[in-house]
Amino acid sequence: MPDRPVEDLPPPQEIVAPTSTRGGLYRLRTPMTSAALPWIMPYAFLGPDGVSLFDAGYGTPEATAALTQQLVALDRKPSDIQRLIISHAHPDHIGMAGWVKEQAPESDLVMYREEAKHYSRMHHGHDRWERLMSTWGVQHGFAADAGTGDQRPDWAKEMERREQEAASKSDAAGETERQSWRMDRVTPDVLLEDGEELAFDGWNLRAVWTPGHTEGHLCMYEPSERLTLTGDHVLSRITPNVSLDADDDSVGRNPLAEFLDSLRKTAALDTALALPAHEELIPDLPARCQAIIEHHEERQEEVLAGISPAGGTPRLDDTATALEIASRVQWNRPWETFSIFKQRSAMGETLSHLRYMEEDGRVRRLRGEDNVTRWQRCA
Ligand SMILES: [Zn+2]
Repeated sequence: MPDRPVEDLPPPQEIVAPTSTRGGLYRLRTPMTSAALPWIMPYAFLGPDGVSLFDAGYGTPEATAALTQQLVALDRKPSDIQRLIISHAHPDHIGMAGWVKEQAPESDLVMYREEAKHYSRMHHGHDRWERLMSTWGVQHGFAADAGTGDQRPDWAKEMERREQEAASKSDAAGETERQSWRMDRVTPDVLLEDGEELAFDGWNLRAVWTPGHTEGHLCMYEPSERLTLTGDHVLSRITPNVSLDADDDSVGRNPLAEFLDSLRKTAALDTALALPAHEELIPDLPARCQAIIEHHEERQEEVLAGISPAGGTPRLDDTATALEIASRVQWNRPWETFSIFKQRSAMGETLSHLRYMEEDGRVRRLRGEDNVTRWQRCA
């Protein structure tokens, strides 16, 4: 946890000044649990009698206290929340939804239709998902410990150990840790379709479906001020994780292709200012979208090169697992320092590039007798 007292929070940042016919729009902040990404920025639309939020934060005591304090600074309170619109169902965005419902039982939880399906799958099939991901990890290069009879990759065992450790802690730190993983089973009240309008308090927001980071990621476009709320789809400095997982692969999804299409779609919105869920505001959204597209084009070349071991002359018949390839591409930190979870997410990201290049005929996958998938260049 960042050891920053809640009293140090800066005041909410005004994006649109309050007028007599509708309220203002403010950028708030609630703490994350990682030093690398210390905040998530909820956006608060103030109406005459209430508040509508785009994203909220973790369900940790620190995050709910921060949200409360920031609403109080705007002369509002948590029970005034009328709707919580969620960009996507990751715990730093939706984790607080259960608490919001407790504070404001009449409020609506709003999300994109596809995301709601994904969200309920995560709840109802969590154990199935963990099993599937274990098999998936081993299939793409993680070692399984055959000696103990436990076929799961190391990260699955480490995850279990951490969960047990957090469950056994009774202090405030344990509570924060538990809450940062938890996502209450909150039932969405309003499901949006692409292009659908959501009108409240003189605001008129248009749903922009932007699959990639998740399959039902939602941005919102506000035409009168030319604002685009981008969630995690477009951030000012980092790029969101775009992964291929076992479920995606079983239905032939190509998440990177979806993400790149979503970036082009977002770039085409007439935007004066983009409002992301982390990091800084984005004054030139099309330029930022283009930079992310170029980053992924460069990454494809790196992934292709990573099929061959470093140092040698690349050969067309070289093969490598997704995990081996991930260990050979350039990340923001040295591969050797990656935790097992970071390795898993790097593997998922590398797989999204391999799947993309498989679709356009640059690579093929070979399934060995050991059930491990290896990748090879086509030309
Ligand atoms: Zn996020």
